[in-house]
Amino acid sequence: MSRPPELDVLFEPVRIGPVTTKNRFYQVPHCNGMGRAYPSAMARMREVKAEGGWGVVSTEQCDIHHSGNHLRELRLWDEKDIPYLARAAEGVHRHGALAAVELVHNGAHVPNLESRTIPIAPSARPVKGLHPVTARAMTKADIRALRRWHRHAVLNARRAGFDIVYVYAGHDMTLPVNFLSRRYNQRTDEYGGSLENRVRLMRELLEDAKEAVGDTTAVALRFGVDQVIGPGGAADPQEARAVVEMLADLPDLWDVNLANFEKDGASARFAGEGAQAEYVSYVRGVTSRPVVGVGRFTSPDIMAGMVRSGVLDLIGAARPSIADPFLPRKIENGDLDDLRECVGSNVCLAHDAAGVPIRCTQNPTMGEEWRRNWHPERIPARDTPDSVLIVGAGPAGLEAARALGQRGYPVILTERRRELGGRVTLESSLPGLHTWARVRDWRVQQLRTMPHVRILPQSEMTADLVLEAGCSLVGLATGARWRGDGVGRRHTEPLPGVGLVPVFTPDDMMAGRLPAGHVVLYDDDHDYLGAVITERLVAAGCEVTFVTPQSLVSAYTQATNEQGLVQRRMRTVCRQVRVSTQITGFTAGTVVVDDVYGGGADALTADAVVLVTSSMPDDRLYRELVPSSLKSAGIRKVVQMGDALAPGTIAAAVFSGHLFGRTLDTGPTDEAPYRRENVELAPDQPLPGDMKLELIGEGRTT
Ligand code: ADP
Repeated sequence: MSRPPELDVLFEPVRIGPVTTKNRFYQVPHCNGMGRAYPSAMARMREVKAEGGWGVVSTEQCDIHHSGNHLRELRLWDEKDIPYLARAAEGVHRHGALAAVELVHNGAHVPNLESRTIPIAPSARPVKGLHPVTARAMTKADIRALRRWHRHAVLNARRAGFDIVYVYAGHDMTLPVNFLSRRYNQRTDEYGGSLENRVRLMRELLEDAKEAVGDTTAVALRFGVDQVIGPGGAADPQEARAVVEMLADLPDLWDVNLANFEKDGASARFAGEGAQAEYVSYVRGVTSRPVVGVGRFTSPDIMAGMVRSGVLDLIGAARPSIADPFLPRKIENGDLDDLRECVGSNVCLAHDAAGVPIRCTQNPTMGEEWRRNWHPERIPARDTPDSVLIVGAGPAGLEAARALGQRGYPVILTERRRELGGRVTLESSLPGLHTWARVRDWRVQQLRTMPHVRILPQSEMTADLVLEAGCSLVGLATGARWRGDGVGRRHTEPLPGVGLVPVFTPDDMMAGRLPAGHVVLYDDDHDYLGAVITERLVAAGCEVTFVTPQSLVSAYTQATNEQGLVQRRMRTVCRQVRVSTQITGFTAGTVVVDDVYGGGADALTADAVVLVTSSMPDDRLYRELVPSSLKSAGIRKVVQMGDALAPGTIAAAVFSGHLFGRTLDTGPTDEAPYRRENVELAPDQPLPGDMKLELIGEGRTT
């Protein structure tokens, strides 16, 4: 299929200083939980993006020195760090893309737990976060040293093969932005005081980089134009504009975003596509250099509109490139129905924060490109004679059927309900979660192109029907049900008196069975659902008291970058928010609560209680399928997957379905199911006892 001509603009080359990108698709730097701990996984993931058609593929942040030492990200302290970065750049080049590296010194943002070097900052201040560490004020000699480190890193980045090097002042966390901010910078020398002085370091880093490599390598500035906290923020909007004007044509590329990461990486609950345009649109009018910006872009029309209306030259993407590494290639080929759109769940961020390879709600192969050799577009052809019955068309069942269908297996997919999608269809009706439906829509669209996959909605399967289906392999993706007895993370036994106040569960909410009056919502799940259901109840006219045994509302949303936004919203919509509070029981019309740290009991009058505590696998069908009857029915194996195996995130359900599609199983294997990369031992490492160890390569330390 050929693409609509109005999208041609996205495939124009753009000159970035001494280099040229083949199109306008620009994968901006993003964390991925792989970094230097999983270097080949990181490199392969970047390569796959290049294969998918991104004109520029960037690394995540890359430390330049041990005094700004991030625990997980890349580093380029000296030439020892070149090999694995070179592997990433090489992979990107193999597919005709440009490779960019985001060099960073994190200043007072990091406590330097690994290196134990005292952090440095424009002025002395406690480091960000909770570690009891204070950054010391930089001397002039420190500033000169920083410029030297940055210059060395820039030169080493060129040696590693990068086409674009960054000066990173993009979020409220790096030294150039610390110097810019009056909140961080109380210096009285030529690096403090006036804006001209506070921007001096940023200018010098740019000039140094250009002087060092500018003949061959582009120098980009990642700059947060607004912290969105008004005057005095890391990037005060008025001052930020003045900075853009002062530095206008100095960088070869402006990579602009919001300095406030909560806003910059907002989930779909809190920001829609293109939400940053209003903040960054002026930049292109100030500089003659190309401008790249982000906005969780997944719609080709909006992307082309951004270029045509003069907001951006290059369409930046982090999360959309994770959800669909082949997004540019598909647009180029006109395969617009095949675009797998980011849902904005921020499950990627949550796993980067956990220090493991990121995962994606939409793309189960993310992070698995190298270690499991999973490709987002290709999958091995059918290699067994099986025909497969999948019961349940939620995210797990849909993905299993899709992957098996792609492999060429004959599949029957049955679903009890009229609508496909299981929990994503149900949850997407809740406030802010409409994008969840993309998980269903993409898979249903793909399945429609597969004549060997039969989809049977409104077909509830019993054990007898499974035996009669005539398939050799059965996948059960029957989902889970929320508990109504209060058992969850805190309570291992049903709550005393449960039922004395009418009980509702998330399943009731999603089926449209809502309480009225004053409702106590008890969240012992701690992900998004408790707060989202609260919003739904408030919209339906209920008064809600939100109670949670955690000290934070929706505590897990710290990982998804939503915590501050959720807190603010709950404080606005709820009658009362009670944290560190547990339900201890019920009497008629009252919910008895207690402070978890012993602050004393309290009785809340309530017309109803909504228990968002935990869910249980729906394994009824699995238990009804008697092993002895399977063989005579020609069924060689029954496999559970998704929430029916173990309730979790939508991403986990999709992954489980995909794993079944690839391996025809979901259980543990004797061997680790993926390749691992171990750290090489240094040659001078004393070995315990008589142990002999063969060193690989030169036994380099990293
Ligand atoms: P997951 O997240 O694991 O995909 P979901 O709860 O989203 O789980 O989806 C499970 C789906 O399975 C639901 O749409 C449900 O209606 C369907 N289902 C459950 N039991 C049966 C059954 N016996 N026959 C057909 N469909 C079923």
